[in-house]
Amino acid sequence: MSKIKKFILLFFGRYKMEKNQEIKCSVTSCKYNNSEKGKCILESIQVEPIMECETMQPDESMCASYEYVED
Ligand code: SF4
Repeated sequence: MSKIKKFILLFFGRYKMEKNQEIKCSVTSCKYNNSEKGKCILESIQVEPIMECETMQPDESMCASYEYVED
C-alpha cells in the first residue's frame, strides 16, 4: 500500500471514529458502565498493556479508566 493511500485511510478512519465513537463494555462493576445499554458512558478511555503478559490475547490489555462502583 502506498504511503499516500495509507495516510488517507488513517485520516478518514480516525475522523469517522471520532464522529461515531462508541465504547461497548459489559464490565458492570465499573461506575462508568451503563449495563442496560452495554456501553461505557465516557467519551474516551485509556487502554494500557498488562506488564509481562505475552499471551497474544485480549488479556494483554486492560481498561485503565475503570473505577469500581460503590453502593
Ligand atoms: S471505563 Fe472502561 S471498564 Fe469502565 S465502563 Fe468504560 S470501558 Fe468499561
